[in-house]
Amino acid sequence: MAFYRFLPVALLASTVGIAAAQAHKHKNYDLIDVSYRISMDARNEVVFGTCTNTLVLQEDATRVAFDFAKLGINSISVNGKPATSTTEGEMIWVQLPTSGKKGERLKITIDYGGRPEAGIYFVPAARAYPSKTPMVYTQGEAEDTRYWLPTYDYPDDKATSEAWLEVPRDWTAIGNGRLVDISFNQTNKVFHWKMDQPHATYLNSIVAGPYVEGKEMWGKMPVSYFVPPGLEEEGKASFANTNEMIDLFSKLTGFKYPYAKFAQSTVADYMFGGMENISAVTQTIGTLHPVDTEPLSSSKGLVLHELAHQWFGDTITCNDWSHIWLNEGFASFLPSFWVREHEGEDAFDLSRYDTFNGGLGAMVGEPRPVVNPNYEIPMDNFDGHAYAGGATRMFMLMELLGEKTFWNSIKNFLNQYKFKSPTTEQFFASVEKSSGKNLKQFMQQWFYTPEMPNLTVAREGGSFTITLGDKSPFMLDLPIWILQDGKWLKSNISIANRPVVLGDVKGLVLVDPEVRLATNLTYSFDYTNAEWESLYKAMPNAAGRARMIDLFRSKGKQDLLARLLSSEKSEKVVVRLINACSSLPAAQVSGLLNSPSPFIKEATLRQAAKLSGDKSIADQIRTMMSKEPNSQLKLQEFSALGRITNDTSMVIQAWMTDSWNDGYRAMALDVWFNTDKDQCREKCLEILEKPTTEPLRQNAIRKLGSLKDKPGERRVFDALVKVVQETSFGARNGAISALGEYGDKAALPYLEPLTTNSMFYIARSAKSAVERLKR
Ligand SMILES: [Zn+2]
Repeated sequence: MAFYRFLPVALLASTVGIAAAQAHKHKNYDLIDVSYRISMDARNEVVFGTCTNTLVLQEDATRVAFDFAKLGINSISVNGKPATSTTEGEMIWVQLPTSGKKGERLKITIDYGGRPEAGIYFVPAARAYPSKTPMVYTQGEAEDTRYWLPTYDYPDDKATSEAWLEVPRDWTAIGNGRLVDISFNQTNKVFHWKMDQPHATYLNSIVAGPYVEGKEMWGKMPVSYFVPPGLEEEGKASFANTNEMIDLFSKLTGFKYPYAKFAQSTVADYMFGGMENISAVTQTIGTLHPVDTEPLSSSKGLVLHELAHQWFGDTITCNDWSHIWLNEGFASFLPSFWVREHEGEDAFDLSRYDTFNGGLGAMVGEPRPVVNPNYEIPMDNFDGHAYAGGATRMFMLMELLGEKTFWNSIKNFLNQYKFKSPTTEQFFASVEKSSGKNLKQFMQQWFYTPEMPNLTVAREGGSFTITLGDKSPFMLDLPIWILQDGKWLKSNISIANRPVVLGDVKGLVLVDPEVRLATNLTYSFDYTNAEWESLYKAMPNAAGRARMIDLFRSKGKQDLLARLLSSEKSEKVVVRLINACSSLPAAQVSGLLNSPSPFIKEATLRQAAKLSGDKSIADQIRTMMSKEPNSQLKLQEFSALGRITNDTSMVIQAWMTDSWNDGYRAMALDVWFNTDKDQCREKCLEILEKPTTEPLRQNAIRKLGSLKDKPGERRVFDALVKVVQETSFGARNGAISALGEYGDKAALPYLEPLTTNSMFYIARSAKSAVERLKR
């Protein structure tokens, strides 16, 4: 899955895990097939289901268990005979009517229903912005399928599936696999979907609502997207070209996309950015954007991530959550190859550099081995170690093996483990076999070590000493470049826990100049600005230049950054230089605002906003606004102009302006939040009291926690408590945190019951708010 960009990072930080990975003690069978019929009463948020698990006993047994919680059971039958069950935590034990023998095939049917607390979500039209129609969706990963479907709910056993989804006649229900047929009963429409390939049960999904379908083909295979009516253009902007992506990943991995279709559905109030439900991805509706905001807005990263999961996550699945990097690392790695195809080598190198920083940052923030069996709940492992960290290591493995051997090994791995759930050890055993390379050290140091290499370069005259530290578990093959008389002398050194000394060097040394290895690299000396400039200008690799930019920024070399900005040619590196500058002179801002690149313009507008009172820049931006075709840029031009001119009438004007996601009103709220708290509070309360767009409502909720009530009033408190009692995700989650910030213990009776909520994020936010209030 992909995380939604607006979700606070703190929510994703893992707690210290003590409990070991779930032991599947109740598993005495091999799951073969899961078939289910689901109908629902969306208005009352109730589901009715019948689920048949077909399984083969792996030992003689008198009972079998399924993961299932929070819903009621009406009846159970085993091969057609009535059976009984007992509940144990989030599990039910089905008593077999006659004791079963090893190898026996059983069909166990459970009829159930109720109002789910998690797993399946009902979003009314009023909360579904920018949709004007309601929707229903499921979210299984990590272990939430049990809240809507009684089955085996861990990733290590795969089964085929078949679904009959009953919905109102004007709705569409999107399930997994091929559409077998659509039929009608007295009141409803029934969509019948079938997955012929075995898959993990957390990948079963339903999305339903009055959707419209956009469709393209990949050969004879349908590639569809489903958006609420009225959002067809935005859907096309987000999801067209998906068939080209399927083509690229099929070629890259050497493993053809294996399912009957590929569909993407958009849902509102989603807790994630996207989810790789098998052959039927669920995406946040927040990814939809007006066509005219591209390329600043883009869904490509999200689409590529969830599509990559169809290979890594769905076709092969991590054996348990300690190996989640096999899903998320690859899904974070493959998109860079689309970037290389479409944006070139510089963009590819920069994407590798950013990925490395993500992996390194995770290790600095919360050190743990990538393969981590010590987690409290599965979601703890869905962090920077698994995503960027996993991808980082695949970049390095590709570097080590060479690209051709790497992809050949990946192809063999996919073929060897397709429709199975391998471990990290099995991945490396497979790659070792394909590549003929011993990868024990690579696997051990990068996947089972709770640290990254700390590389230090020291200098004394012409002598450079490179150190990894005497306790370092790493062995690296380290590229060294020396710039001498305007030319690079290139070599590699092997380094482990003993320092390596380069003596009598005549030029300037850079260690791992192209950033091929993920290391915390420190130069314990400084070159002169002139020397750095010559190194920068001689560096052909964009990742190498990006790393220097970050170094210069951390050392406060603002003059050097501004100077490099005038000679840098690569668009994406220019943007980094602009962002690294703490300020820019008006003349340089004026020149950069004329750039044809929307990315450069966007970054420059942030610098322009700092030029308070500059009339000439203000005029230039006014002219830009009058003919700006990109509505996203126009919003930022408006914002920059407001800050330069300090014109308060522009805040009122913003408040009166309707726009996508209510971007102008959000801007006005931000200004009032910083300049006029009373005004901001009134506007936020107004937003909560009358129908408005959901992004603005959630924005107001977030602000109200710190705005609090005026002395003697309870309006803010009461409004937040009301939201906490909704069944929504985003607004409720925001209100829980806001009440924690508000700081009144009277909120405890509303928050404490939520600390045990089945929704991971709700429970986690409620716990942290309660802790805060009790402090
Ligand atoms: Zn993912």
